[in-house]
Amino acid sequence: DIWIMRIGHRPERDKRVTTHVALSSRALGAKGIYVDTEDPVLEENIRSVATRFGGDYSIQTGVTWQKATKDFKGKIVHLTMYGQRVDEALPKIPTDEDIMVIVGAEKVPAEVYQRADFNISVGNQPHSEIAALAIFLYLYTGGKHLYEDRDGEMTVIPNERGKTVVKKDD
Ligand code: SAM
Repeated sequence: DIWIMRIGHRPERDKRVTTHVALSSRALGAKGIYVDTEDPVLEENIRSVATRFGGDYSIQTGVTWQKATKDFKGKIVHLTMYGQRVDEALPKIPTDEDIMVIVGAEKVPAEVYQRADFNISVGNQPHSEIAALAIFLYLYTGGKHLYEDRDGEMTVIPNERGKTVVKKDD
């Protein structure tokens, strides 16, 4: 399974970015996210999407990266523009183990680089945690989760033009 650890979250400033980190990782097949700063509003928003659109994505806020990684069984992948090339690192990341992907906001503490099994860059230009995570997850999973059936209250059916949404009647 794939888990996300979002560090440096500031509820006021990072509301949208962290929401998009969670939603993008969910769409690409992650099982859940840990966010270091407590943020009940963020939790509620993500759970609401997960309930409506299905699957079992979980969110826990107020969990430090030290705590989240402590008992984690699997490999820790830290995304940073300073890391090794994603195309070279990918074959070394096991696919038969869980991974936890750490993304930052502002400056990431040096200890994270030490704790990570892999420090990986998605290009060596500065860009965004949302973009870095989406590209990494797409490469790691081959995009296999994008159209999977999540058995939600609502399911969007691909449509060339209009919007087709199927609602489960309960
Ligand atoms: N300046 C910060 C630093 O020195 O760590 C990074 C700020 S950046 C806006 C926020 C996060 O986006 C980073 O912590 C990293 O996870 C991700 N990120 C940005 N560019 C990246 C890249 N080229 N490759 C991998 N991750 C990247």
